[in-house]
Amino acid sequence: MSARPVIGLTTYVESARWGSWEVEAALLHCWYLDAVRAAGGLAVLLPPEPDCADALDRVDALVLIGGADIGPDRYGAEPHATTDVPRVERDASEIALCRRAIDRRMPLLGICRGLQIMAVATGGSLIQDLPDAGLGLVHREFPGAFTEHEVRLEPGSLVSRIYGADSLRVNSSHHQGVLDPGGLAPTGWALDGLIEAAEVPGLPFGLGVQWHPEHPDRRTAESPLFTALVAAVTGQ
Ligand code: MN
Repeated sequence: MSARPVIGLTTYVESARWGSWEVEAALLHCWYLDAVRAAGGLAVLLPPEPDCADALDRVDALVLIGGADIGPDRYGAEPHATTDVPRVERDASEIALCRRAIDRRMPLLGICRGLQIMAVATGGSLIQDLPDAGLGLVHREFPGAFTEHEVRLEPGSLVSRIYGADSLRVNSSHHQGVLDPGGLAPTGWALDGLIEAAEVPGLPFGLGVQWHPEHPDRRTAESPLFTALVAAVTGQ
């Protein structure tokens, strides 16, 4: 019997409250852990650390999770009024992890902010405020809310093959999006033209999605994505 593939997931670092504590914590929704476990993977958390990319020696795949907006200085822009205060350590470590994972041709999945990290880490840039950009579609009604929209997938792309479809109904909870995909090849778009999925060309499994496949309401619909990530480790 073979050991489960080890899937490294980045974490939030936020002030959090539980028991008698209210402290800065490195944390992650159990949603992600449940999704990885259900797909047959063994989840380990990779909080921001100097030289964090060295941790990739010990894991088989990397998931860049959701979270606050990336500091606009990372892609040479001034902050928009609605852009979050940057999580400097997270930005630095996740960009480093992303680049190292690509160098190592390691299976890589970016989720929401994770897709945006993949774009910025490969030289791209972001739209800082989608309503202000006036693309037309609602991608988030208010912080913490999920809405839904259609995504058109590039036929034959990795994401299209994973879901076995050329279009997909996805959840959506983001107010920023990819402007310049950098070194990524876009393979999924919302009907307003926004990039919703993008891939690392030449990598067996390097995919970022703007939606939230980890959400428990989407467990069944999104299980092909996590199953494909774990399968990519063993080349199945
Ligand atoms: Mn969206």
